[in-house]
Amino acid sequence: MVAAKLTEAGLKKQVKRLQGYANFDAFKEELLRVLWSHAVTDDHAERVVSRLIDAKVPNESGFSACPTPAEIIATCKLVPEKKQPARSANKKCVQCFGTGFAQDFILATRIGDRLETQSISEEQFHQLRKQPLSSRNQAVYESVHPCTCIQPVVEMANV
Ligand SMILES: [Zn+2]
Repeated sequence: MVAAKLTEAGLKKQVKRLQGYANFDAFKEELLRVLWSHAVTDDHAERVVSRLIDAKVPNESGFSACPTPAEIIATCKLVPEKKQPARSANKKCVQCFGTGFAQDFILATRIGDRLETQSISEEQFHQLRKQPLSSRNQAVYESVHPCTCIQPVVEMANV
């Protein structure tokens, strides 16, 4: 359980994760300073640093520059302070079969300069896909949308 606060020890630990990067020694004090003033909690700082590490791609000679204070500040603003609540789909849902994503099958018909879309069944979709459609004015496609059964997981309140 991560305490929801900002600590020097917590931030030093996060800054240390960047020590493999070139120029780290030149930057480390500044990195600590900007994390201290822009991160909200240790947990937030951890996610900020993870995001920076994940985004680093070394150049052709394998050189990876250390994130700069400006990058840290920008990333602190980008990463939400609180983790997004986990969401869970209903395992018995007949729309999405517990995946959280329901599939749509759509027939689109162009009439003049309008495009009319209608939902079709999965069977219709597969049938229509096999046969040439009445003209080039029609197309079938599938898409997914988040299922209505998805509910935020209720987190235990901090006591
Ligand atoms: Zn569902």
